[in-house]
Amino acid sequence: MSEEPAVFPFTEVVGQEDMKRALMLNVVDPGIGGVLIKGEKGTAKSTTVRSMNRVLPHRTVVKGCPFRCEFSREDRYCPYCRERLAKGEKLEPETVRMRVIDLPLSATEDRVSGTLDLEHVLKTGEKKFEPGVLAAANGNILYVDEVNLLDDHLVDLLLDSAAMGVNYVEREGVSFSHPSKFVLVGTMNPEEGDLRPQLLDRFGLSLDIKGEKDVKKRATVVKKRVEYDMDPEAFIAKCQKDLDAMTEKLEKARALLPKVTASDEIVDSIVSVTIHFGIDGHRADITMLKAAKANAALESRTEVTKDDIRATAELVLAHRLKRRPFEEGGLDKEELETCLQSL
Ligand SMILES: [Zn+2]
Repeated sequence: MSEEPAVFPFTEVVGQEDMKRALMLNVVDPGIGGVLIKGEKGTAKSTTVRSMNRVLPHRTVVKGCPFRCEFSREDRYCPYCRERLAKGEKLEPETVRMRVIDLPLSATEDRVSGTLDLEHVLKTGEKKFEPGVLAAANGNILYVDEVNLLDDHLVDLLLDSAAMGVNYVEREGVSFSHPSKFVLVGTMNPEEGDLRPQLLDRFGLSLDIKGEKDVKKRATVVKKRVEYDMDPEAFIAKCQKDLDAMTEKLEKARALLPKVTASDEIVDSIVSVTIHFGIDGHRADITMLKAAKANAALESRTEVTKDDIRATAELVLAHRLKRRPFEEGGLDKEELETCLQSL
């Protein structure tokens, strides 16, 4: 028996290419800033996010660290690892798989950030920290289903931590911080209310998903699901090769990413696209460059091309477009093409 949870395999999710691409891009470069997935009930949003569990890449962490500090990044070690080093202890590496961590809607701020035991500090002079969800999330995907129903200040806290890569907790003048670098993935049903625009813009990517209308594809979805439900382990075993190949693809792309370059012409194209669509500020430009690089890495290339912009532009821009009320969402693909051709 594997200790990994039985989840529907990512490689067997039919269609939903944009959602899969958005998730993969964030795994390749967590600096992209997460993804917000909007869709009605029954569009397999949660299934697809959780299905990542069996394909996520492996990473090397400090053995025995409650925050699973990245082994090669001594500069980002938590206070415990730094203390162990200072005592002359030799830290050991441990290989673990990146995971999807669920954040329940009922979570309190203490549960999310963790808590400092002040009594312990007063008695012993030593800091004692009870890790929260942000500790478990370090190096992983943090998944919030129905993110639009989560308290605004908690969403703020998550976005801050994801952007800075650090969780900082302070109580009565005593503070503690630990690495908390993760990919924030939120799903929501827009019929149940929207996120504040200020929060929307802080997600790197976003997409709207629709239920599958193609009869053949929809029938395939149903058949696969029923087969999986009959015997999940047998179903997973049958596609284990594909799952392993996907893990390898993601690991290779992560290793390749630092070598991916974008020419001045490509950067000009990206900026022209965001200007054309009337997007203010640099956040969209930066995110699109990161997403385009991650896309190139996923396709085993070390140079960004306009195809990478085509593949990622809508994911980056959809939630940043200024629309008049009642206007249909989404990016005009023809307009994007005209804009890219004109350069
Ligand atoms: Zn540590």
